Amino acid sequence: MQHALRAGLLATLLSTGLAAQAAPKELTYTVTIDPAKSTDEFQVALQLPQKLKKDQAIYQFASTAPGTYQVMDMGRFVRNFQAFDAKGKPLESKQLGTNQWQLAQPDKTREIRYTIAETWDTPVNEHRIYRMCGSSLEADHALLNGQTILGYPQGMQNQPLRLKINYPSGWQAGSALTPDAQGYYHAKDYDQAVDSPILLGRLTQATTKLGDAEVALYCYSKTDQIKAEPLLGAMQKMLGAAQSFLVQLPVKRYAFLYHFEDQSQGAWEHSYSSEYTLKEQPLTPEYAQSITDMAAHEFFHIVTPLNIHSEIIEHFNFVQPTGSQHLWLYEGTTEWAAHMMQLRGGLIPLDDYLKTLQGKVAYDHLRADTTYSLKKLGLNSFSDEGQQQYGNIYQRGAMTAALLDLRLLELSGGKRGLREVLLELAKQYGPSKPVSEQNFFDDFAKQTYPEIRDFFRRYVENAEPLPLQEYYGKVGVQYAPVYRTGRKLGSLGLNGYAPKNGGLAFAQVSATLQACGVAVGDQFVAYNGAPITMETFRQTIMAMQSGQPGQEVELTISHEGKEKKVRCRTVERDETKRFYFAVDPQATPQQLALRQAWLKNL
Ligand SMILES: [Zn+2]
Repeated sequence: MQHALRAGLLATLLSTGLAAQAAPKELTYTVTIDPAKSTDEFQVALQLPQKLKKDQAIYQFASTAPGTYQVMDMGRFVRNFQAFDAKGKPLESKQLGTNQWQLAQPDKTREIRYTIAETWDTPVNEHRIYRMCGSSLEADHALLNGQTILGYPQGMQNQPLRLKINYPSGWQAGSALTPDAQGYYHAKDYDQAVDSPILLGRLTQATTKLGDAEVALYCYSKTDQIKAEPLLGAMQKMLGAAQSFLVQLPVKRYAFLYHFEDQSQGAWEHSYSSEYTLKEQPLTPEYAQSITDMAAHEFFHIVTPLNIHSEIIEHFNFVQPTGSQHLWLYEGTTEWAAHMMQLRGGLIPLDDYLKTLQGKVAYDHLRADTTYSLKKLGLNSFSDEGQQQYGNIYQRGAMTAALLDLRLLELSGGKRGLREVLLELAKQYGPSKPVSEQNFFDDFAKQTYPEIRDFFRRYVENAEPLPLQEYYGKVGVQYAPVYRTGRKLGSLGLNGYAPKNGGLAFAQVSATLQACGVAVGDQFVAYNGAPITMETFRQTIMAMQSGQPGQEVELTISHEGKEKKVRCRTVERDETKRFYFAVDPQATPQQLALRQAWLKNL
């Protein structure tokens, strides 16, 4: 409530302020999409409302965009850059660097025109732009992200702008922005234009209400397998859980933009919308759940970074990519919240939630560098080195937020967890008041408990091993890096494989298999009569490790071109599970009390 009041007050101040002085003139962009002529390029024209000053003589394209943590260098896609005077006479201009064009006569320039290629189908040597952050144009649809079509004269990043898109009749357009009667989308500055992607084409759409907020869903599906209405239906419970988690949605209108075609590349969050480029396949309950998990994550970004972010995000640098040490907050906390709000909303059972945690810890240990701190990951997110570790922000980053929640609950006696602190911070700061990039760890600790400063030092600024066992123990959840289930399984020992002749050969052979006559280099032809293929071999290897102890199995191998069958007996081994979480059936009353607080929105 308080938040809505504050936003309302701000709007009043703004509108009275505007009445007293003339509104700043808008930059007018026109983008023409004509798939009959070209399905690779967009034509862009910018009309300048005023003369450019000398220090505005450079036209800038984006080197990156907020929330992407990747180098984009949009100048690479620009063709045929031209400047014109008021009479339409061409003026000189020249390219200064990848993303900058110099205007020879800024005071005479009234219009800038260029062609910009779509990012999906335009080959590049490096820094391939994620699909959801790029642009696409096909005969029946287009995806536009602001920075993939628009640039700005230097010094005019904060100038209001309007954008009209000329597109084929019969197409629909979906965006968080709503066009005016003349078809113009208005943005208060370049940042907002970048923050407001537009999906156009043969779309289906559906809307729902969440409290006072309107939620719209726009969907492009190449062969119409997925439609807006059932997809929104599948997401409805999650949206309800999100509303309970957030109490009051900090937005009036929110748009989900879905693009289903040949491959899944993920999703990109914005302040009032999010966009998804996913593989088109039937909307089974499993697929709907995985889309919902993703949507929960992107939707929660309306809390952070939208309402809690440092000045690095507030004054975004489109010229030079700059990392923030608080990526743990923007992505880690968001990923934690996406699953936690579904657990607390009763959408997923606790056992499933614990399996999600297991997967996240496994990623950290098996696929990432556990010694690479989250702070370093944030600061280096634009470098190749940082990009290699980037996926871990959703894994160890989320686990770190989960532990922070547990620590806050413990210190507050079950009264105030991470959710409650985030909601306080969102109220205190909000969309246009950044937290301090430098002092946020200190400020967060001041707002909560001194012990939290130490938490940040250990697990965000440094990369100390996460105390999973100790922290989950507080709520009566057991954790073991290696857990013996007590069951006995049959195993054929540790073997290694390498591709050979379009199939697989043994690269490493266990003592058990050696004893049956298998040698390094033998082609693995069949297991218990079932042929080994690239598609089935994972399942086969699992089966080889998890049968009955002492069971006889048959391997068909090809030794130096000669096929033979060998019979082996599996040896007994202990069944183990790695990174294992389980509810402790013997939890103490104290643990149960904190678990109760942990499982609900306080
Ligand atoms: Zn995210």
